[in-house]
Amino acid sequence: MSVKKKVLSVSLSSLMALGAITAVSMPVNAVGNGPNTGNGSIQTSILHTYDSMVDFLKTQDAKQDLLELEVIGQTVKGRDIHMAKYLSNPANPTILFLTQQHGNEQLTTEGALEFIKHLGTGKTKGVLDHVNVLIIPMLNADGAMGDVNFSLDDYLADGDRHLTRYNANNVDLNREHAKDIEDMEVEAKALYENVFEKYEIDYMIDLHHQGTLSETNGELVSGSILHPTNPDVNPEVLEGSKKLGSVVYNSLEPTGWGHIGKYNGGSGANIGRNGAALRYDISTLLFEMRGMSDHYYEPYALGQKSNGYLIKQTITTLDAAVRAISDGSIENADTSFWDTLPTQTNRQGEESDE
Ligand SMILES: [Zn+2]
Repeated sequence: MSVKKKVLSVSLSSLMALGAITAVSMPVNAVGNGPNTGNGSIQTSILHTYDSMVDFLKTQDAKQDLLELEVIGQTVKGRDIHMAKYLSNPANPTILFLTQQHGNEQLTTEGALEFIKHLGTGKTKGVLDHVNVLIIPMLNADGAMGDVNFSLDDYLADGDRHLTRYNANNVDLNREHAKDIEDMEVEAKALYENVFEKYEIDYMIDLHHQGTLSETNGELVSGSILHPTNPDVNPEVLEGSKKLGSVVYNSLEPTGWGHIGKYNGGSGANIGRNGAALRYDISTLLFEMRGMSDHYYEPYALGQKSNGYLIKQTITTLDAAVRAISDGSIENADTSFWDTLPTQTNRQGEESDE
């Protein structure tokens, strides 16, 4: 345990050395930055645009031998949907990281991009010999760019664009997962036809952001996690999900800034966490980080002063999962914490994301 912790702290400090997160101040009590207007200025211009993200991926692709970029399909508005692939050996276990099914949940994408850069530094080279990594950043690029067929005039963020949960057709992509593939919105269809159907995927972390006011034990959470909850999921698949959750929980809870709750999510097969577990026996984990990048409802949106620790939370999560699968330690992960992990509640009443 102490050895593992040391490895993690080294990798994080090396990330900071790369300049990934040095530009953002990280107050110790970032989680407690507070409700409503205390969330700070909501500014979208500091986020990657779709185009700058694609530029970033192409730059990394040119630099990294192990990285291969694949276009898995197109959005409603015709944007290519990219997937970053690290496939060292088909026999290795494979993990998929998915971000921005909901377009207004972008810090997970920012973290995933930093993680891709991190994978190219050589510090994880041995790690990638024993695990295959697939990363789809920004599945819902039209929603992320606010290029949709409905009005976003009442959204809050300043900057050069608004970001919305829905795809261009005003459909929630994380409710598409129980459909026949041919009937899905094109973004979900691309995920199913060209990823789930084509790769042997063992694990998936589906990365989201929720509102800003969720808490457990009176403390605002930095994020909440949940395994599949559909009763028809194979018990072994569920156990793998719980182990994946254990790896993530134990990488974040000791940091001081990470405070993780249990998400209160539904059992419907139309949700990715349940649907991918049911259809493909993938051990899935939902991760709902605190605060959205834009919204029309103020308590859901989180200003940029919290960006640093939330991006770092994504990087820590991805790094821990990849290492634990690579060295096999995930097999021995202690899942008993799930029995006592408090389910989050909300300070202002109703809230949902997933
Ligand atoms: Zn979401």
